[in-house]
Amino acid sequence: MTDCIFCKIAAGEIPAQKVYEDEQVVAFKDLSPKAPVHVLIVPKKHVQSVAHFQAEDKELAAHIFVDVVPKLAADLGVAEGGFRIVLNTGDDGGQTVHHLHVHLLGGRKMTWPPG
Ligand code: 5GP
Ligand code: ZN
Repeated sequence: MTDCIFCKIAAGEIPAQKVYEDEQVVAFKDLSPKAPVHVLIVPKKHVQSVAHFQAEDKELAAHIFVDVVPKLAADLGVAEGGFRIVLNTGDDGGQTVHHLHVHLLGGRKMTWPPG
């Protein structure tokens, strides 16, 4: 999508510190990390948020959560100690970039409830 920053990162038009890439997704370090490990997993296809997933996206959603999240958590060294997955969705959910992204945060003890 034009003027979408994560579409541009996915297309390589804007630089990012990529930690993983395959045909369907790219993962890169968050510009403003909130934990020692903070990466964003982003589908290359522009999907606005999880609220905008369509039936055709089932394979993509499964790929993200079944294949990519566990692999990245292991590669980044947080699988054993634990980590947090966050999907801010819409304005009340705190979503600021309107291209679906999964935050993977770890490397410190997380608190609850979220702000
Ligand atoms: P949201 O608030 O939408 O859930 O999260 C957006 C995240 O994207 C924020 O944590 C923010 O730091 C990150 N972010 C925004 N712009 C960029 C960018 O250009 N590059 C990278 N690497 N991260 C970004
Ligand atoms: Zn986009």
